[in-house]
Amino acid sequence: MRLSDWPLPYVRLSCEFCEREGKLATEKLIGWFGPDADMFTVREELAKPRCKKTNPKDICKSKLTDALLVDAILEPDIAKVLKKDLLPEAREWRKKLGIKIDEFDGSKGSEE
Ligand SMILES: [Zn+2]
Repeated sequence: MRLSDWPLPYVRLSCEFCEREGKLATEKLIGWFGPDADMFTVREELAKPRCKKTNPKDICKSKLTDALLVDAILEPDIAKVLKKDLLPEAREWRKKLGIKIDEFDGSKGSEE
């Protein structure tokens, strides 16, 4: 996913080793990395220099805190949403952000 495809106004990062959670405005990040920057790269660039992992051989376990929420916001097929608990929140965000997505449930197979 590209930074410009990230629907939320902010990007949150957390890491098992790093003490604090980071939250940055998406707009600011686009200014730094450009709209085409991959979310994976953005996460790495942001987390690595500040990672507090104690063993240098450990891999920074940073993750995008809202990755599953974003999945739920952008996935029209309910059957494919990874964390269905997040659907109510995802719908709220769609409303707030003016994202029009027609949900359907692919597991039900409507054509018969
Ligand atoms: Zn880290």
